[in-house]
Order: sequence, then C-alpha cells, then structure tokens
Amino acid sequence: MRKMMVLLMLGFVILFVAGCKKAPESTAKARQDFKWQVDQFADIRILRYQVPGFEELTPQQKELIYYLSEAALWGRDIIFDQNYRHNLKIRKTLDAIVEGYQGDRTTPEWEKFMVYTKRVWFSNGIHHHYSTDKILPEFSPEYFEALVKGSQGVKFPLEEGQSLDELIAFLKPIIFDPKVDPKKVCQDPSLDLVANSAVNFYEGVTQKEVEEYYARLIDKNDPTPISYGLNSRLVKKDGKIVEEVYRLGGKYGQAIEKIVYWLEKAATVAENDLQRQVIEKLIEYYRTGDLKKFDEYNILWVKDTESVVDFVNGFIEVYNDPLGMKGTWEALVNFKNLEATKRVATISANAQWFEEQSPIDPRFKREKATGVSAKVITAAMLGGDCYPSTPIGINLPNANWIRRMHGSKSVTLENITYAYDQSSLDSPFGKEFTYNEEILERIKKYGSLAGNVHTDLHECLGHGSGKLLPGVKSEDLKNYHSPIEEARADLFALYFIMDPKLVELGVLPNEEAAKAEYDVQIRNGLMTQLVRIEPGKNIEQAHMRARALVSHWVYEKGKPDNVISRVKKDGKTYFVINDYQKLRQLYGELLKEVQRITSEGDYEAAKNLVETYGVKVDPELHQEVLERYRKLNLAPYAGFINPELEPVYENGKIVDVKISYPEDYVKQMLKYGKEYSIL
Ligand code: ZN
Repeated sequence: MRKMMVLLMLGFVILFVAGCKKAPESTAKARQDFKWQVDQFADIRILRYQVPGFEELTPQQKELIYYLSEAALWGRDIIFDQNYRHNLKIRKTLDAIVEGYQGDRTTPEWEKFMVYTKRVWFSNGIHHHYSTDKILPEFSPEYFEALVKGSQGVKFPLEEGQSLDELIAFLKPIIFDPKVDPKKVCQDPSLDLVANSAVNFYEGVTQKEVEEYYARLIDKNDPTPISYGLNSRLVKKDGKIVEEVYRLGGKYGQAIEKIVYWLEKAATVAENDLQRQVIEKLIEYYRTGDLKKFDEYNILWVKDTESVVDFVNGFIEVYNDPLGMKGTWEALVNFKNLEATKRVATISANAQWFEEQSPIDPRFKREKATGVSAKVITAAMLGGDCYPSTPIGINLPNANWIRRMHGSKSVTLENITYAYDQSSLDSPFGKEFTYNEEILERIKKYGSLAGNVHTDLHECLGHGSGKLLPGVKSEDLKNYHSPIEEARADLFALYFIMDPKLVELGVLPNEEAAKAEYDVQIRNGLMTQLVRIEPGKNIEQAHMRARALVSHWVYEKGKPDNVISRVKKDGKTYFVINDYQKLRQLYGELLKEVQRITSEGDYEAAKNLVETYGVKVDPELHQEVLERYRKLNLAPYAGFINPELEPVYENGKIVDVKISYPEDYVKQMLKYGKEYSIL
C-alpha cells in the first residue's frame, strides 16, 4: 500500500501534512474567506479544495486537464461495482428516491435516510470506506419501501420484467440485514478470506481455489513479472475458473470505452511526445487488458518528469482485495506546484550539508548523501477510489521491479493538505489542547508550512540519511524496526527544522515557524494522539509509537532543566515547552542514539527504547484526553467534492477552461450519478 492516507482527526492534520503558502496577500485573503467545509454527517466531514495556479496554465494544459478529468469521472460506476456487486443497484435506487420522493422531507426519518445515502456515496458503496464494515441504516425497511413507492418521475434500476415490489424485496436484506455481507474486506486469517469478503473481485470461488489458480500462472523466476490478477475478476463458470478481464469489450467495457474516448482526446493535446506515448500506451492497455502493456505504460509514466500536467488512471491499489492482487480503479488529475517543488528540491540539493551537520557519530554517516527527488502537485480532479476520500500523497508504480529498475514518482497533494489545514483552523480541537492563545496563534500562522517542511525533511532526507555498519541488516531490529526507523526520520526533521540553515535557504521564514512545529509535535506525542487509542489499549501503530517515543524521551530527559513542563489549568492537562533550544539539543541526542541503534542493529536497545517510551499509555491522562475530545463532537474522517471544469468553445474548439467550486455535496453526487453512469 503506497498511498499516504490522512487519518483524519480534526486538528491533527497539521501533523501529517502541509499547505501552500507564500501566496500574494490578496490570494491569501481569498483563500481565508473560502468555505472549506460544506457538510458534516455521521463520522464524516465534506470539504472543498481549491486549485491555485489553474488560471495561469496555458489553454492547452487546461484542455488536457479537462479531458483527463472526464476520463477520471467516468470510472465512478466501476468502483461502486468493484466494492460490492449490488452497490450500483443500491446507489441508483437511493439517487432515484432523493430525486423523486414526493412525501415529507422534513421528518427525522428522512434525515436518517439522507445520512445513509450520503454515507453510501462517500464510501462508493454500502461498506464503510475505512473500517469496511457494512453501514446499517437508522431507518426501517418499511420506511424504505414507502420512499421507493412514494417517488415519482424517476427510473428505478429494475431488471427486465421485475416489478417495483420485487426490487424492494430484493434490496431489503442486502441493505438492512447485518448478517448479509457484513464486511467488505475480511482480514481474519482463520476464515476463508475470499468467501467472507463482500468485495466483488471473486465469485463462486474459495480462497484455496484462487491461490491455486494464480500459483499455476505465476512464474517465480521471472525477474520482471506482470501484476498477476490486477485487472480482472475471478469467477467460476460451469465449474471452470475464469478471469473476467477489465478491458474494452470485456468486464466494465462500457465505462472503459468512455475513459478511452477521453484519453484519446487528451493524447491530442499532450504537452510533449513522451506524455503522448504515456497516454497512448494506457489506451492500448485498456483496449487489450494486457498487463504487459500496463508495465510498459508505468515505465513510460515514471520517465515523464518534465510535463506540468500529470495523472493516474487505472486499476492500481490492491488493499481492497483480501489477497492483495486485484486493483481498485482510481484516478487523479494534477499539475506541478512549481513553487513548492522548488522547496523540496532545495532541501534535496543540500542533502550533503545536512548529512555532515547531523549530530550522529561520524562512523554512521554517509560519504555521499543524496536526497530523494519528490514533487509537489496540485490536484485538479479526483475520481474512483481517490474520491471523495483522498490520499495526501501517492507513490507509484507498485511493481517492485519497475521501482528498482526505472524509479518511481512520489508526490504530495499540497492543495489537499492545505484544505485539510484550513478547515481545521476554526476547529475547537486546537483551542482545547493548546496551553494559551500565543502558542495557538503561532500554530495557526506557521503550523501548516512547518508541517510540510517537517514532512519534506522526514521523507526526502531523514529516511535516506546515515548508514548501516557492514553486516547489519534492517531486519535485525525485527518488530522494532518500523518505530525506530520512523523515529529516526522524525528526529532528523525535528533537529534540523530549528537550524538557522532553513531560514537561510528560504525554506522557513523564521524561527517562530520551527517553534510551531515543536509545539504541535509535543502536544501530539505526549497527549493528543491518544484520542485514536481505545481505553485500556497500548500504542500499536509504528508512526504513533515513534512520536510517543520521541516526545516521552525528551520530556523525561529534559526534566532536570524543566525543558517541557506539564501543567494543569482549569483541571485540564497541557504540556508547555519552556526552552526550545534545549529541546532541539535533546532531539539531537536522541537522533544520535537512534542512529547508533540502527547502524549497529542493536535489538536490545531498540526494544528497550520503544517499550519504555513508545508503547504504554498513562490511563489517567488517556481518559482525560478522550473525554475532552468526545465533548468536541468532531468527525474523524473527511473527503472532498470536486471543482467543476467548464470548457469555453470558439468555433467548435476549446480555447479555455473555467474552474468553479460548487458547494453542494448532494448535488454533485446526483450530477455524477446522472452524467457519468453507464454500467
Ligand atoms: Zn517515514
């Protein structure tokens, strides 16, 4: 899984993510006045994102984005069907009710129906997008029946010869019975993962049959294997197991025809020859379903680093398949954020300086340090599995041999993270857990940028810095490898974010920005990340262990000098940093030790560090934090509605594309249901 997802806890986002800045004052103002959040229901917030820089693109680039966006939106039916075989029928029924119901739309029952419908739209099906549990309606089957029968002037998805009563009878158990297909992706290894997953990648086959089928196909000695099974559904027909391949004229052929139609148009306005080849290769793959073509496409795509406009379109990520083979359809259209990419490039270009200045033992330093080249992009359209729930970073392709031999692209979606940040600024979260106004204001002012720079340092330099002694392998640290590695990259970022060099390089405006990052890190590591832990549980997740480890260690070691104090105000606990420079030194000391542990493969020390500082939870503080968080009534997940692109024609030719930002989630969903539905 190579998508960076934000686990959205309001106000947390600042930690994982980013923001675009240095906009002219007027633009900055316009962005502040923008309504970021447009809806909230169940555990979900619906946000909007802006596409800064779109107007400055050339007409041809805009035209290209428009065509690619159409190709992105035409895959919506595919993902609904992939997620569950009855999803399309359910969505069409819900859409028809929302459009055509003639009865009272002011009752609590109607409200519950709308919440359910919005959740189904959000998850691209009836299973929760994150937990994959079936979403159960809070209205009755009888009310559902009344809604269907009370709707007029709309078409329900009836099979040939099927009556409305028969459709209702068919859908009732699927929607209401908690025992029917309760889980989209089953991960319980004691069960048949295929038979117990509702996801629509298999039909009539057992896990054993699937595994045997692919074991026969896969050539283990092939150094450049195709991604077996990525673009097909495996079914048993007349006792024979066959692959239904997703391609033109095959499974999902009608939707793929539309996608190909728009990709063909896109190819005519490609920015350069290589990009045209990329698009044409993708079309070839969609026509044939040949996975070799998909590899060729990926290799071309990785090479194309010059184009401003870029895109993802296809069956990509495999985490919806309990067996990790089948790709879920997704799309993303984007263009380079040149200014922010410069920031990343500046940091990467100075990799050697950072390595030399790093407070680690010279024996563990790299002689020649190089930063990872990454780019920052602006998302212009989201589709399939990227919509409405959106990743903040993408690192593709997934095939390991292509990554090794041809490289990969790592991108950060900065306008998406910016929207997360902006929508969180007014959230009560920051106020609840921040000691005073001064600190809160500093976080509001610099937190977004500083969070970005932290991520850049962590990703572009931190993981790649230092070296292992001869004979040491990263597996030597076993289960402690991940938290130690994440702590190492984080410490690298934390140590250097306070370095005057960053201001000198123009990456940060001043030291205040670095302080804001320290404030957020300490607040999170010692306290607020606990809201994601259930009462009585330990910290499990590697990034969370890393943050807890780092924060608790510096808190303990700084006690003699009172570097960080734990204070109570109005019965509430806060952690306050008293000495930022001393805190930086402590981060440096711990970086030195964590690098030593890594370089020497010192398992015992890793275990000791993680278990002492990164796992256990103070139950009293935990309870307090959970209670304070619960009172805020925040929705932990967020997703986005897309902007709208409107081509401007002159003499039958597109001469410009106008962008606008609709506010109505329901409207966009109904529009997509009407205009981009073909299966
Ligand atoms: Zn990392």
